[in-house]
Amino acid sequence: MMSFGCIDKNKTPVPEERTCPQCGGEIEVFLSMGQIMEDAVCDCGYVIKAQEPLGAMPEAQ
Ligand SMILES: [Zn+2]
Repeated sequence: MMSFGCIDKNKTPVPEERTCPQCGGEIEVFLSMGQIMEDAVCDCGYVIKAQEPLGAMPEAQ
């Protein structure tokens, strides 16, 4: 019942619809601070790749 307790507001993904350049359909991507968080795959198989944050510092894995 505390699933949302640890989500940082700055990191909350914002859904946004993008038009697929391949089939013209809509693809829902998740943005965080203007960057695509994770790959979004269209029904036709087109993939919008996640973006690397510019100037991000590499973190220990
Ligand atoms: Zn498509």
